[in-house]
Amino acid sequence: MNRTNRVLVTGGAGFLGSHLCERLLREGCAVLCVDNYFTGSRDNIGPMLSNPRFEALRHDITFPLYVEVDQVYNLACPASPIHYQFDPVQTTKVSVHGALNMLGLAKRVRAPILQASTSEVYGDPQAHPQTEDYWGNVNPIGPRACYDEGKRCAETLFFDYRRQHGMPIKIARIFNTYGPRMSIGDGRVVSTFVVHALRGEPLTVYGNGDQTRSFCYVDDTIDGLVKLMNTPHEITGPINIGNTREVTIGELASMIIRLTGSKSRIIHKELPIDDPMRRQPDITRAGDILGWAPSTSFETGIQKTIRFFDRLLQSKRIPPIPASARAVQ
Ligand code: NAD
Ligand code: UDP
Repeated sequence: MNRTNRVLVTGGAGFLGSHLCERLLREGCAVLCVDNYFTGSRDNIGPMLSNPRFEALRHDITFPLYVEVDQVYNLACPASPIHYQFDPVQTTKVSVHGALNMLGLAKRVRAPILQASTSEVYGDPQAHPQTEDYWGNVNPIGPRACYDEGKRCAETLFFDYRRQHGMPIKIARIFNTYGPRMSIGDGRVVSTFVVHALRGEPLTVYGNGDQTRSFCYVDDTIDGLVKLMNTPHEITGPINIGNTREVTIGELASMIIRLTGSKSRIIHKELPIDDPMRRQPDITRAGDILGWAPSTSFETGIQKTIRFFDRLLQSKRIPPIPASARAVQ
């Protein structure tokens, strides 16, 4: 008898995690979503709860976990600056202790394990676009370090488990991803701009808006993660997963105002400490190894995102989002 693939998704109630759980359920897997609901929510997984192949477990991955599964996707970690700077010690802890616990679990059950790493391992990059061979430019003592260095250390642990124990590991370096179910108060630029535009409030561009990012639609990112997980054991990554279309934050603000039909104006605030100035993935490796490239245009992806936030704003009374979204600077 063919046994259903049992897949553990840590951070499964978050933005990316909930989309990944849905995708895995569609493929016929049995999904165990593990989350402590720090930044995720039960709303994100609500529609899945009635699926007999879906199970949600409240658990903090900085503590050991004993479950029997065939694959592990390790996504648990607050991901937006406002969230990961809220409790920086916990952020490093979830990246490092969380990775150790999930690697230990994967080793015991002999399961392939995928780490949701990040373009932040490149810091404020001096190489452009960023290839996987670039070692990065991270300030180890700045306010972003809890996240950046935590994720870098997690990559180290993954490769040491591979070298020491021969484990099948996969590292995806995910670049800025956007889409429905981003959390409304996370301060990330796309969610914040869309919500402000829909409310007719000013869009706050940090600095002069010349810094760039490259935004990938969530379905494309999830497709890249699933393709990477299902590669042969020799394939470890790291592999960049992101969209190569690079825009300045100033351009992004204007695009969102135009696409929402908003009358919002643009205002400027101080650039946060260590904010990377340029970011664009080189995705040659993802193309060669996974046959993957993003297929959703920004216009299509952002329309879906706008519709999501529009419905959310109409359905709930949501408190105003502070114009300056940074908790700690
Ligand atoms: P998110 O905040 O929506 O999801 C993270 C999830 O992890 C949340 O549901 C949260 O409650 C959970 N979590 C946090 N700490 C936990 C703990 N100790 N134990 C169990 N669960 C815990 O963020 P996201 O955007 O969905 O990001 C998911 C992963 O992808 C993160 O690891 C992030 O670093 C990585 N990533 C995301 C992006 C992006 O643009 N979204 C880019 C690069 C990397
Ligand atoms: N940003 C901005 N206004 C906001 C939120 C963010 O100008 O309301 C800028 C931020 O300074 C950064 C870029 O947008 O240069 C992307 O920020 P985000 O937090 O979304 O992602 P990250 O910096 O982690 O890539």
